Amino acid sequence: MSEQRFYTLGLHGGSRPSAKTANASKSPPIFQTTVFTFDGIDRVEEYLEGDPDLYMYSRLGNPNQRDLEARLAAVEGAEAAAVTSSGMSAILVAVLSMAELRRTRRLVVSDRLYGGTRTLFLKEFAPMGFEIVEVDLSDPAAVDAALSPSPAILYFETISNPSMSVAPVEELVIAAGKHGAAVLIDNTFLSPVLFRPLEWGAHAVVHSSTKYLNGHSDATGGAVLGEAGFIADVRRRTAALGCHLNPFEAWLTLRGLQTLALRMDRHCANGMRIARALAGGVLGRVGDVSYPLLESGGAYRRNRKLFPDGCGGMLSFNAGDEDRARRFIEGCELISFSPSLAGVQTTLSHPATTSHRGQSDEELARQGIGRGTIRLSVGIEDPADIEGDLRHALAGM
Ligand code: PLP
Repeated sequence: MSEQRFYTLGLHGGSRPSAKTANASKSPPIFQTTVFTFDGIDRVEEYLEGDPDLYMYSRLGNPNQRDLEARLAAVEGAEAAAVTSSGMSAILVAVLSMAELRRTRRLVVSDRLYGGTRTLFLKEFAPMGFEIVEVDLSDPAAVDAALSPSPAILYFETISNPSMSVAPVEELVIAAGKHGAAVLIDNTFLSPVLFRPLEWGAHAVVHSSTKYLNGHSDATGGAVLGEAGFIADVRRRTAALGCHLNPFEAWLTLRGLQTLALRMDRHCANGMRIARALAGGVLGRVGDVSYPLLESGGAYRRNRKLFPDGCGGMLSFNAGDEDRARRFIEGCELISFSPSLAGVQTTLSHPATTSHRGQSDEELARQGIGRGTIRLSVGIEDPADIEGDLRHALAGM
């Protein structure tokens, strides 16, 4: 080879020992690359024939995505997993793939959903020709009627954001089975540590891995889990739509996932303690404290059966009205107003002006949201410090 000039050396100089390690690094390397190299056309053929050790282009597949998918499938007890760029894109590709598999354009969806999901269904799927039927999951006759006309996809959140309504999963799976509907569950609020929808008869699960799965508020992502054939289609679609998870965020999420079970133990313990203290009026005056495992709640026994190990750190309560909510938010010092959830630090959100913004008071009320509703995501701090901050902020309202 002729002597390489400076510009070329900066690009090609030296060997690449990192590409040739014979023993594995303990922590996975980050394959921060858009593309992979082939030593000839035969290798491309091998890649196209499905050699799992070959990669071509990170939109189509990258080792960091595959690492995360394998770990997620193991934790969730699923045949396979596909990761995506966000929770929203996970919902998008999961619904599109399920609609194709089941040859249906009818979506029967809970009337209590994360605002972004509701918007996706009503503003994106409906104009594409999907029929969207919103239904109150606590009304068996309404669910039965909604599922009746033709095969559908039944879509709901195990625990709804932000009203904390628990879906009657067992009854819904039976109703869907009676009508030949596919069940797709967003399990973001619980994580597979606390609830595994596939074991309860769901056909597929979606997660915003931005939340508990990663847990550190530093990587946006999503995941779809289910049968291998379905997931292969989800992966194909994710590549086609370009909503793949980037290598660094896949790596961060895998890193976060290692402590998921530990974190969930603490989220559950802290969540339970704060919910009891708020409901008991120990920290100040609030109304409508909603936490699925509060003993005073009507559905306690059913919820205990669904979530024997706890129900995480999410809860909501009513501060009264928007002015009181505003004063409460401004009074918090440790707890930040950060409209996301499920990170290790305790945060709060005000759904009426953030995740569910733009909806009328009537629409909000139907979903169990008021102008005074506060959603609290209880973190893993010392619970006495969380209580102290809440007491201080409630006193200043
Ligand atoms: N599902 C639920 C229950 C959520 O709360 C969210 C976001 O808050 C999403 C899906 C969307 O996830 P992402 O923000 O990662 O797109």
